[in-house]
Amino acid sequence: MSQIKVAIVPVTPFQQNCTILMCTATNRAAVVDPGGDVPLIRRAIDQIGAKVEKIFLTHGHADHAGGAAELREIFGAPIEGPHVGDKFLLDGLEAASSMFGFACRNVAPDRWLVEGDAVTFGEARLDVRFCPGHTPGSVVLINEPMQFCLVGDVLFEGSIGRTDLPGGDHAALLRSIENKLMTLNDNMTFISGHGPLSTIGAERAHNPFLQRQA
Ligand SMILES: [Zn+2]
Ligand SMILES: [Zn+2]
Repeated sequence: MSQIKVAIVPVTPFQQNCTILMCTATNRAAVVDPGGDVPLIRRAIDQIGAKVEKIFLTHGHADHAGGAAELREIFGAPIEGPHVGDKFLLDGLEAASSMFGFACRNVAPDRWLVEGDAVTFGEARLDVRFCPGHTPGSVVLINEPMQFCLVGDVLFEGSIGRTDLPGGDHAALLRSIENKLMTLNDNMTFISGHGPLSTIGAERAHNPFLQRQA
């Protein structure tokens, strides 16, 4: 079984967890959610000796996707994800730059993702689940062998994604979390777009947004 090395680089004023995943058998890597601060991301890539093969996006918000076009130019790596539901966000990144306070470029992914897809780099593979709610096109990427996943802004330690931005839908977000994430194992670790790592089991037990009324 191929192992995956994980490096997290907080980027943009939003301290978004850009995540570099490297297949240790091949040193081939995927960069997930390069929102900006591309020089910081490049330094981390160099430090672990990764060869960037793919760029994955969990959703279309600026702090996750704003640096993707630049990274694709540098490495010649295709961009996969999110779901096409976030096209309106990716088409509006440049226009939103001044509002966010950092430079963003619009980006057209090379591949849109849907529920049941898989994405690969080196010898590693991530399964795709469609989790709309925070945005209409959010996806989650799951690595079963190593029991970890990347959830973007769908779920956080002790919290859930905000749904007051364009296209947000609170009921849809709760359905996505219930049907697509809470069905995973308790010991599944997740990497959120912001803040610390947690596990599905910890959120099932303690996340105040996910507790059923008695
Ligand atoms: Zn977001
Ligand atoms: Zn975010």
